[in-house]
Amino acid sequence: MKPLTEQEIRSAFVNCTKGEAKRLSVPRDLAERPWDDLDFLGWRDPQAPARACLVTELEGRPRAVVLRCPSPGARHVQRSMCSVCMTVHTGGVSLMVAPKAGKAGQQGNSVGRYLCDDLACSLYVRGRKDAGPGARLQESLTLEEKILRTTANITAFVAKVTA
Ligand SMILES: [Zn+2]
Repeated sequence: MKPLTEQEIRSAFVNCTKGEAKRLSVPRDLAERPWDDLDFLGWRDPQAPARACLVTELEGRPRAVVLRCPSPGARHVQRSMCSVCMTVHTGGVSLMVAPKAGKAGQQGNSVGRYLCDDLACSLYVRGRKDAGPGARLQESLTLEEKILRTTANITAFVAKVTA
């Protein structure tokens, strides 16, 4: 994806107030992130262990989403699969829940997905990060197809949050 600045990310949040978007922790090392290899940028909020964020492009515009996730101590140690990148982790997948944007969110509606705890899906797909033996399924898809699937999954998720 196209590199983003802190300001672009903060103004891309769709499911929190402007004040919250201003106060959220955004990674400081944005310039060093491997943007070419990212379908989305996701991060855990170091100041709020039960919060994660992700930003991706939807219809050519950056869209960022705040997620609630189990705090590190509350994790299961089961083997489970990330619904976005299809990586299998032992205790490294969490149900992340995004309040919906706008009125629907104010009424308590949300959308959940099982995601890699570290939100590094793009790197697992490309083999730039290793989740251990058996983590990646043997598939007949090409890397290109796996990347397309990851992008499709994450944009579908963000589209559901904004819908
Ligand atoms: Zn993943």
